[in-house]
Amino acid sequence: MGGQFFRALLLAATAREVFASCAHGTFLQPRAEADGAVPISTFGYTGRIGPLNWAALDAANSACSIGTRQSPIDMVQGVFTMVAASDLTIDIPDFAEGTEFENLGTTIEVIAKGGTLAFSGKSFALQQFHFHLPSEHLDNGTSQAMEMHMVWQSEAQEIAVIGVYIDVVDGAAAVTSVAEPTPVERRGRFMRGQEPALQRRQNGTAVAAGTPTVLLETIFSVADAIATPGTKVTTPPLIMSEVVNLIKAGNFQAYSGSLTTPPCSEGVNWFVSTSKLGISAANFNKVRDIIGFNSRFPQNSPGQPNLLMVASTFAVLGASI
Ligand SMILES: [Zn+2]
Repeated sequence: MGGQFFRALLLAATAREVFASCAHGTFLQPRAEADGAVPISTFGYTGRIGPLNWAALDAANSACSIGTRQSPIDMVQGVFTMVAASDLTIDIPDFAEGTEFENLGTTIEVIAKGGTLAFSGKSFALQQFHFHLPSEHLDNGTSQAMEMHMVWQSEAQEIAVIGVYIDVVDGAAAVTSVAEPTPVERRGRFMRGQEPALQRRQNGTAVAAGTPTVLLETIFSVADAIATPGTKVTTPPLIMSEVVNLIKAGNFQAYSGSLTTPPCSEGVNWFVSTSKLGISAANFNKVRDIIGFNSRFPQNSPGQPNLLMVASTFAVLGASI
């Protein structure tokens, strides 16, 4: 018992470099550009380095256990404000030369510089997007296969995250078309309205009907190359208009929350899209085997006490009875 406690203290004392994958590439966790090495996260999702103990890993992580506006949450009526996608300006250029795709140990992440998000007179620059499996937010109580987080940062060091659910769809994988058509041809296809049809769900979110999202299939076509934490690969050319158009076709469930990884910083502008992306079963299985599990448990509703405080309070009460 004493030994375990000592080891916990030791872990807390030595884990000063807790790595924040959700905030990777932002002011909270600048990318190490010098040697190009991919850092491996020191927190995790199970056991002593899991979400129940994130606050003990570093003094900077206190919001994880005492914050009252923590993410993710169950997206039910009343906890979010529906914002029309037309109220946001979203622009993400294509990555014609491909871009870096990294395995951080806690997620797989695409470095994506150059996009702009504007709302309420504020402007944010895209830094990266990464994946959680299963989804971190719940869609009106229901877990989704995956969730993509697009992380944006303003000059004033505010953070905004667009969350997009990913469903497994059984349509034929489109990955064979990675090399063609050309970006111009593909843009033309969207302009002709040939993007995947959407089915509306009762709670306002949508599902891509049967067709895997080409962007995801393209990115995950090279996922095998980063099966090991700390590795990276360059993606094939990425056409971003498909996902941008899909997001713009829906709305956003907006709320003020936190990073879903240490240090769990609050004040994050969350926009959970009502549009969903699709992933083929084959690629889902491949990504699952690489990611494993990287979803923080759903937090209390915004403004309510942190669930770890609630749990510890009742644990003490229970012990005294
Ligand atoms: Zn994330």
